[in-house]
Parts: sequence; structure tokens; C-alpha cells
Amino acid sequence: MADIWKERERALENEYIYRRERELIQKMRKETKERLIRELCRNRCPKCGEEIQAMTFRGVPLDKCPGCGGVWLGPRDLQILSEKDHRTWFEKWFKDEEAAETSRAAGE
Ligand SMILES: [Zn+2]
Repeated sequence: MADIWKERERALENEYIYRRERELIQKMRKETKERLIRELCRNRCPKCGEEIQAMTFRGVPLDKCPGCGGVWLGPRDLQILSEKDHRTWFEKWFKDEEAAETSRAAGE
């Protein structure tokens, strides 16, 4: 009779350990997956996956995607740009973009 209780106790212990280890493995898998995603996506365009390039526009550092033309600003960058001569930086940006498009289309 005593052996049955001992076996039952051991079985419960084993089950507890098994559950605990399974939880730890799941946690580790999740953390590894998250880390891998971050490593693979660092400095990559979220839209097309191309490697983004750092550039400076009007003294503000930006990240630009050569693949799709997407632009990323830091947390305060839009505010800094908007404080600089209001409309004109916006116009300059699009003029430069159009010029780049035209020269690309002309095969330069
Ligand atoms: Zn892109």
C-alpha cells in the first residue's frame, strides 16, 4: 500500500517537473523567436525588406529605403523639421525626390 502512495507522489512530482520544464522551453522559444525577428529586421524596411540607409536632410538624420522610397524619422525629427522654415522643407523634399525619379527614369 505504501508503495502505491510513493509511486503516486513520484508521478505528481514528475508531472510538476515536466510542466515546469515545458513552460520554460516555451518561454525560451518565444524569447529566441523575438530576438531572431529583431535581428533580422534591424535596419530593414518594414514595407519591402530592403536595407534602409541613413541620410541627413536639413540637418536631421533620417532613414530612407532605396527600394520603395519610404522614409523613417526619429521621435523628435518631424517636430524639428516642422519648426524649420515650415512649408519650404517639404517642397524641397519633393523636388529632390522628383529630380531623383527623373534621373532614374532617364537612366543616369
Ligand atoms: Zn522599402
